[in-house]
Amino acid sequence: MSKVTVKDLDVKGKHVIVRVDFNVPHKGSTITDDNRVRAALPTINYLTENGAKVLLLSHLGKVKTEEDKAKNDMSIVADCLASLQSAPVKFVNATRGKELEDAVAAQEDGSIVLMQNTRYEKGESKNDPELGKYWASLGDMFVEDAFGSVHRAHASTVGIPSNMLAEGKKVGVGFLVEKELNVLGKALNDPQRPFVAILGGAKVSDKIGVIENLLKIADKVIIGGGMSYTFSAAQGGKIGDSLLEADKEDLAKEFMAKGEGKLFLPVDTVCANAFDNATDTKVVPAGEIPDGYMGLDIGPETVKKFQAELAGAKTVFWNGPMGVFEKPEYAKGTEAICETLANLDGATTIIGGGDSASAAKNLGFADKFSHISTGGGASLEFMEGKELPGVAVIPEK
Ligand code: AMP
Repeated sequence: MSKVTVKDLDVKGKHVIVRVDFNVPHKGSTITDDNRVRAALPTINYLTENGAKVLLLSHLGKVKTEEDKAKNDMSIVADCLASLQSAPVKFVNATRGKELEDAVAAQEDGSIVLMQNTRYEKGESKNDPELGKYWASLGDMFVEDAFGSVHRAHASTVGIPSNMLAEGKKVGVGFLVEKELNVLGKALNDPQRPFVAILGGAKVSDKIGVIENLLKIADKVIIGGGMSYTFSAAQGGKIGDSLLEADKEDLAKEFMAKGEGKLFLPVDTVCANAFDNATDTKVVPAGEIPDGYMGLDIGPETVKKFQAELAGAKTVFWNGPMGVFEKPEYAKGTEAICETLANLDGATTIIGGGDSASAAKNLGFADKFSHISTGGGASLEFMEGKELPGVAVIPEK
């Protein structure tokens, strides 16, 4: 079964609302990475080239205060979007009311209206029923293409399509969501084996669901990063001042028991006597971190061990750095793993968004991966086996 897609909709002359992910990183009004805008272009171009009147909705940043609104004004995306494709783009500095409705009503076929940040509306994150119904009234059809937001049941991701479906209007997924579902769905449901998952990052608590599910599905699960120290402590290891979630030690033990023979942990660690401005850094065996030291990266023996476990893999899912990769002195483990994955022959290599995606881009390896997900949270929830509300609401063909 597969979802209705934008290609199944008869869009000519129709008002098509598209939920895109324009949550771009920015400093002031300068967009520092326009990848998310580029990722939305296949759907936007298809719609404008096929004569739709396109209304784009997205959130940008977190909006709690008036100051946040000023910092996260969607107008910064309008010029970027206009420069990346040829259809006319009109930005509307409103999320409801006459100005927005008039702009939509005046649209020519093949034109784009970009609405102000959806999170300017308090009801967006609460999936406020009135808001979803109102936004749905602005279009004839809806396309879900914000993969980075489909794990959230918000007014723009779930409220609009639910209301449209109730009114007999058509909804579908865009090309970006379709591609993400295909690639991640294949890894989850029918991976080419061996399937190796490599998980890192700060906290066990953020990755419980994904570790649990991947221990069932993958042939090997490799764990690095800050969360590996909770596993080490659970084995009775000395971890000094490293990150520890003491309340997750029992869970770590359970994972190690369930994952016997397929769960791989670091064998050595780079540790330092301070997080900032360390005066002493050394490599020690895992579980032997002296008091006053904290583990900040996987060590060279671990890199070799993980490389050996990755050799021959046919599918790899990677989420989370192996250490504090933002600091060059603790980035070596993450860089080595990233390079290993980039050079794995004949494997489908998938990065589940977030910091691992930034690492691959910064190291210049982005184009050597099969797929870099545009949604960190969404891809993790998908790999956990959870239903994504923004996808669930779109009917099957
Ligand atoms: P996450 O968002 O859970 O994938 O975590 C990413 C963060 O984990 C990055 O900011 C890393 O600096 C951090 N991290 C990775 N390894 C460690 C470690 N050994 N100690 C502290 N933080 C870490």
